[in-house]
Amino acid sequence: ARAWTLASRPKGLPTPENFALVDLPPRELAEGEVRIANRWLSVDPYMRGRMNDVKSYTPPFELGAPMQGGAIGEVIESRSDRFKAGEMVQHFGGWREEAVLPADQVQPLPQLDVDPQAYLGQLGMPGMTAYFGLLEVAQAKEGDTVFVSAAAGAVGSTVVQIAKAKGCRVIGSAGGADKCAWVESLGADAVIDYKSGTPVVKALGEVARTGIDVYFDNVGGEHLDAALAHGNQGARFAICGMIDVYNSAKPTELRYLARLIGMRMRIQGFIVSDYTDRAADFYRDMGGWLKDGKLQRNETVFDGLDAMPDAFLGLFSGGNTGKMLVRV
Ligand code: NDP
Repeated sequence: ARAWTLASRPKGLPTPENFALVDLPPRELAEGEVRIANRWLSVDPYMRGRMNDVKSYTPPFELGAPMQGGAIGEVIESRSDRFKAGEMVQHFGGWREEAVLPADQVQPLPQLDVDPQAYLGQLGMPGMTAYFGLLEVAQAKEGDTVFVSAAAGAVGSTVVQIAKAKGCRVIGSAGGADKCAWVESLGADAVIDYKSGTPVVKALGEVARTGIDVYFDNVGGEHLDAALAHGNQGARFAICGMIDVYNSAKPTELRYLARLIGMRMRIQGFIVSDYTDRAADFYRDMGGWLKDGKLQRNETVFDGLDAMPDAFLGLFSGGNTGKMLVRV
């Protein structure tokens, strides 16, 4: 079966030459292993970090080895009593058509009434990031004004909807008129098109007349600075991602950083895995909001394993609305 490997480490924005599609030789299952035919593969911005040879919270991808990532597939052969052929499962053997894994690295799908690929998006890692980042890290509560960047993406669009379900006023930022209209359709009270040419700090000031209480940062750079400029006393910033800097080493110039002091704001970074042991809270609340129609899903789907690098690179040019996925 075919798999994508890391051919070389990128400098700046990755190019197709950094990836190589190889045919892995077939092998028999060992005791305790399962063979999975992947149906849905995830591409996520954090994978850019794993392409670099630096120490981080996940180890770098190895040169020449299959890349990894979230995946949903069907068990087609099993030498474990935990799974039988025909079961749908989730695991991290992505970027390939077929995964052979020890059963303890494979999880059954949670039992919510959604399509299986939702467990790579709103009901999976990006959704959990939105939920715990907004409610635990940023402590968003009813009546707060919440600003979220990359609001048309997988994490951001879920932040918008959870914040609305919690009774917050929500301001989103996204690139382009279509995406902004979509974010508004999710319930956002105002949306900034950061590609319109107006500086974010000015656009935010126009729609956040009374300031912001929460900033959910997916972007960093100019967005973070604008949020600092408009943060209210005691504002909480959940630093989830800084996609603006993943492909460059450009220094970010934060003109409004010193407002942290006078306004007693709090900034906290987090990684979604900090909250793994609280997944039950997430499924309970998200399941309820799904049933009540408070959550809309959206996915951008590329077809076929061959499209994997294009889908991944699309994350850095805004090629996705909602969760970026590849259907195998
Ligand atoms: P998205 O679905 O949001 O896809 C990325 C989006 O980012 C693009 O669609 C694009 O939208 C926007 N974008 C790309 N480059 C820029 C830029 N230079 N400036 C502004 N916007 C840009 O991805 P995810 O929802 O999966 O991830 C969102 C963020 O959350 C990322 O920073 C990611 O690293 C982080 N993250 C952090 C986790 C954690 O545990 N801390 C876990 C999961 C994700 P547009 O068209 O609007 O520009």
